[in-house]
Amino acid sequence: MGSKINYQDVINSIYHDICSEENIGHIANYIPELSKVDPNKFGVCIKTVENEELGIGDWQTKFSIQSISKVLSLSLAYKIIGDSIWERVGVEPSGNAFNSLIQLETDNGIPRNPLINAGAMVICDMLISHTENAPKEFLNFVRNICANRKINYSKSIANSEKSVGYRNIALCNFIKSFGNIKNDPKLVLDFYFQMCSIEMTCQELTRTFMFLVNDSFESPDHKRVLEVNQAKRINAIMQTCGFYDESGEFSFKVGLPGKSGVGGGILAIHPNKYSIAVWSPKLNKKGNSSRGMKFLESFTTITKSSIF
Ligand code: GLN
Repeated sequence: MGSKINYQDVINSIYHDICSEENIGHIANYIPELSKVDPNKFGVCIKTVENEELGIGDWQTKFSIQSISKVLSLSLAYKIIGDSIWERVGVEPSGNAFNSLIQLETDNGIPRNPLINAGAMVICDMLISHTENAPKEFLNFVRNICANRKINYSKSIANSEKSVGYRNIALCNFIKSFGNIKNDPKLVLDFYFQMCSIEMTCQELTRTFMFLVNDSFESPDHKRVLEVNQAKRINAIMQTCGFYDESGEFSFKVGLPGKSGVGGGILAIHPNKYSIAVWSPKLNKKGNSSRGMKFLESFTTITKSSIF
């Protein structure tokens, strides 16, 4: 496409346009601790394979990444266990809300995909079975690929979610009744709530996810994170399942593999080009960041960089 795109100019201009519009949607208040977040926070960061790293707004402020962490736990399980993970979790979009119980009954406790709550819990259960200390190893994995030892769980957010986690508790016990959770559901839920409570900035998110952008990415200890073929599959699952019952809409409007979280973050990948993170806490009806969706739609339109 001719001359090099000035990403800083592009993100600045979209950011300011969106700031001049009404900030619509609702902050996730079913997790009491998340309802305390300032709804006007808004940050963006892009990191390219050429190592350009550009941001605007609150791009260096930490927030709760929530379900974005499900891509990371899936990646760790895939790395440790390999293809047998697909015997216990599917790869089909659910077309339902992230915390839905509905399909589990007819699907005999096999979650549709690893990016809905049910699927992420089964992945957490696998990690507990295959590691000495799953919360510790998961955190180490994330710190290592981001090259940042300061990344951490938020105890207050994990406890806050646990205190009202009735639906997730039901989900985990329901899957256990089909035999697809092997460990004590209490252990699995504690790890799940911890995993969702990880806090990162937009800048840290873009750095962390470079292993899905760049085929030759190595972590600081010079190890491959995933095989090329595995990274391809994780991107495919993000493309088809990353936004729950709005995954088709995200593909249609933005056209990148991505993942959202109820903390208001969205992370998207352009394989071999860039990773981009947007954070704005107000969510639309499907539980995805309203401004985040809008920002990314404009971004891939202006830069002509949808994968399609
Ligand atoms: N921890 C949240 C939950 O289980 C994650 C949901 C999300 O980010 N979509 O409800």
